Amino acid sequence: MPIQVLDTDTVNKIAAGEVIERPMAVVKELIENAIDAGANSIIIEIKDGGKSLIRITDNGSGIDEEDVKLAFAPHATSKIKQLQDLLYVSTLGFRGEALASIAAVSQLEMFTKTENAFNGSRYVIEGGIEKRHEEIGCPNGTTFIVKNLFYNTPARLKFLKTSQTEAGYISSIVEHMALSHPEIAFKFINQEQLKFYTSGNGSIKDVIYNIYGIDITSNILPLDTIKESCTINGFIGKPVISRGNRSYINYFINGRYIKSGVICRAIEEAFDPYMMQHRYPFTVLHLKVDPQFIDINVHPQKMEVRFINEKELCKDIYNAVLETLKHRELVPDIVFKKSNVNLRYLSNEEINRLFDKEDNNKNDNKPDSLRETAAYNAHDIKQRTLFEANIMSPQAQKDIKIIGQVFSTYWILQYDSSMFLIDQHAAHEKVLYERFMKQINNNEPATQMLAPPLVLSLSMLQQQAIEENIEIFEKLGYCIENFGGREYMITGIPAQLPSIATSELMLEIIDSIADNKVNISSETLLGRIATMSCKAAVKGRNDLPKEQAYELLKELMSLDNPYNCPHGRPTMIKITQKELERKFKRIV
Ligand code: ADP
Ligand code: MG
Repeated sequence: MPIQVLDTDTVNKIAAGEVIERPMAVVKELIENAIDAGANSIIIEIKDGGKSLIRITDNGSGIDEEDVKLAFAPHATSKIKQLQDLLYVSTLGFRGEALASIAAVSQLEMFTKTENAFNGSRYVIEGGIEKRHEEIGCPNGTTFIVKNLFYNTPARLKFLKTSQTEAGYISSIVEHMALSHPEIAFKFINQEQLKFYTSGNGSIKDVIYNIYGIDITSNILPLDTIKESCTINGFIGKPVISRGNRSYINYFINGRYIKSGVICRAIEEAFDPYMMQHRYPFTVLHLKVDPQFIDINVHPQKMEVRFINEKELCKDIYNAVLETLKHRELVPDIVFKKSNVNLRYLSNEEINRLFDKEDNNKNDNKPDSLRETAAYNAHDIKQRTLFEANIMSPQAQKDIKIIGQVFSTYWILQYDSSMFLIDQHAAHEKVLYERFMKQINNNEPATQMLAPPLVLSLSMLQQQAIEENIEIFEKLGYCIENFGGREYMITGIPAQLPSIATSELMLEIIDSIADNKVNISSETLLGRIATMSCKAAVKGRNDLPKEQAYELLKELMSLDNPYNCPHGRPTMIKITQKELERKFKRIV
């Protein structure tokens, strides 16, 4: 399509955009243009956080000599002709305002050449005013050099953060663009240093490796599925690489990097049973949706879209992620860090920490050091996946050996060439929870009547917690009666959990709901009360004969997700024989 200026009506209906608010936005718009131009190699170079220099070079279609000037006119685009075209638009850009906006606030130079042209063009424009337009010899494709951004708008310049922070934003957008288009080779250079590159071989996994390094890449599961509302392919992180914030939840719609609260929630909800609170998953998911079902024209920076079939889409994403997590080997593999310390015993506290008892498994995230490890171990990924022993396999059920128990809590098991440590409490809690929920989901709550009943004297907050959720309690098998004022009688408890029949444990359950101020769905609350009940039920039960431990493990292994207790803590961890041998210096 030739470049043309859109008519006023179309312009007015396109969400008006203050597209350029920081250097990152320039980089995003120019990369999008390069992608739209069909480039398969894009080089991004910045200095001073993009404030003094942004250079973006692509090997795409280039711009025809006669269109060069027009490309910088406001609302000039080659991508749509009229508003209706937006319904089918497959390009990332469509408003025709980026080049005009960038040129208005910087000193810009562009070199461009199409394949068929004998010569290319050089175009210089500063503060929106054309300075030069000449013929020049240059390679096919387009190079933009944007210097001194906001030099003529000091107010905007003042609002920029430090160069380092701005460079961080740019790095993040380049990473997302690279993840969204694995078929394009990206190279990112900051202050004349190559920060990262991708090969453009089309493999999402390779891009993940180039950006996030070995620790993440060796812990991802492929996801490939066709659903009613979309097709999804990509990777999701095993729960062991959970993160402290949402910035690792990547998803792309039709090659477009966007943010969507509802998609994010669907992914998080699927991970919920596998994750501790305040931990977030890692994902890179490419979604393909019929363009007619999305409205891409709702946000100035095109960072949000509206879905017409939002509900179905979210359900499909939720199911796709959950199906990928189920029935998988997800035992966290413990790799001892290299240290100067010679042989020593792990303390009780250290073992507890391995099981996240303290809820403090901080994942410090240092991309550079990750990349170092990445370079060091490339070789390991294949080996690990090849030799992974699946503790859930029927073979494992036969061959697994229980070695014994330590600290009255952790069972030591041996299978294949790995040693597994199982947290008895977490395992027990999980098994109880699954049995319990199965019954509830089949609508067969069983109640055990208490004689005499437990009598509780409750505070206002506790009363409220009970009154507001009485139906949920009943659904779980509780019988609760108010017999005047603040006195409540618990006359029945879930039959599955006889050991919770103490006032102390009942109050603990009621208190944790009273503490819960966030509005959550009744389904989620039901799950929470069930979780608390199971936790209370296993409290203080340490003694378990080996035969019973074996039964417990068997039941645990038969579950869809045996790896996490209902609170998301791991139930088991694994240390490979190889890792031990390395530790004892039998191998290096
Ligand atoms: P939009 O991308 O919304 O069309 P822009 O202002 O970003 O608007 O770009 C205007 C036009 O300039 C595009 O429609 C395209 O025809 C052309 N253009 C911009 N960047 C490139 C590029 N890197 N390669 C080829 N053509 C480009
Ligand atoms: Mg554009």
